[in-house]
Amino acid sequence: MRNEYSVLEKIRTYQGELAAFRQDLHAHPELGMEEFRTSQKVADKLAEWGIAVHRGVGGTGVVGVLRAGDGPASVGLRADMDALAMQETGNRPYSSGTAGRMHACGHDGHTTMLLGAAKYLAETRDFDGTVNFIFQPAEEGRGGAEAMLEDGLLTRFPCDRIFGMHNWPGYPVGSFAINSGPVMAGGGFFDIVVTGRGAHGARPEESVDPVLTACHIVTALQSIVARNVAPRDTAVLSVTKIVGGDAHNVIPQVARIGGTLRAFDPALLARIKERMATVASGVAMAFGATAELSFGVRFAPTVNDEECAREFADAAQDIGGEITVDRAMAPVMGSEDFSFMLEAVRGAYICIGNGDSAPLHHPDYDFNDEAIAYGASALARVVERVMQPPG
Ligand SMILES: [Zn+2]
Ligand SMILES: [Zn+2]
Repeated sequence: MRNEYSVLEKIRTYQGELAAFRQDLHAHPELGMEEFRTSQKVADKLAEWGIAVHRGVGGTGVVGVLRAGDGPASVGLRADMDALAMQETGNRPYSSGTAGRMHACGHDGHTTMLLGAAKYLAETRDFDGTVNFIFQPAEEGRGGAEAMLEDGLLTRFPCDRIFGMHNWPGYPVGSFAINSGPVMAGGGFFDIVVTGRGAHGARPEESVDPVLTACHIVTALQSIVARNVAPRDTAVLSVTKIVGGDAHNVIPQVARIGGTLRAFDPALLARIKERMATVASGVAMAFGATAELSFGVRFAPTVNDEECAREFADAAQDIGGEITVDRAMAPVMGSEDFSFMLEAVRGAYICIGNGDSAPLHHPDYDFNDEAIAYGASALARVVERVMQPPG
């Protein structure tokens, strides 16, 4: 039983098995919605430990269901499984065996930590209720969280609360960071199509130049965060693409602008979008052109529920060993599709130290296996604490 050990001590006895599992995933990275091998491995492990397995939830997603006692409470624990389309440069015995694919965001580690928690909870069963272990596909911009939700994740596997975790390079191993509010930004990608009138490059008087117009739009867009957003609020608007024309002597008909917009407050996002449309079409009109603004991929802000954030922080603090928990983590401008699950059910997202590894999405990044036991323990402990057995 749990009382004889700390959670951390118990889960550390799985270290060899878990590290080997993580390194195997690292050697076999799969892109979002193509996690066929990964999800098979996950399903096999869950079944081996006597956990009910549901496959094909939102594509390649897997949900493991473990019940103890007969209480009505339920907790969801979520990890992501996908890798990135990039080439690994590190030279490790378990480096990626697939060219142009790499676990550069540590989702191999996230999957392994959740499995560690599942193994522990299946062995100890010191809780009263249902745990849903949610192995999500396609976090990296391929819509995995939304796919699982659309496939009935939370109706088929109801969760009172849901918890997620991401490794954080630069924080020491054994440390956690969380806050009770926005942790990651929402926003999306935008495109602006500027249409003018093409002409010979030496006869500009016959043209409406979409390249010149696009340049002015880019400059004017920078006034929005500077002049329309209160200095105490946070937003970023980055133009990352500007494409127009093919020849040195032809003024083209069309130029295209693309970029990303991020903020923590949905109302602020809406206000900025409105200003972007006004600025783009107004500047275009001044030059005799037209500009059409559209928003593609959307991310919601990741917002922690105050009580769940406290529960997760308390659980992390309580796993045993020398742990530090920063409860006032500064929000980051990156985005995370766990946000969509947090829009549907309350919960919290925590960051776990990955030591001094290369940054996320860097070609030499590697998940730190020393972090596995800490992360698995925090996930397991939050289940035990929020679904305590009676008596
Ligand atoms: Zn990532
Ligand atoms: Zn990630």
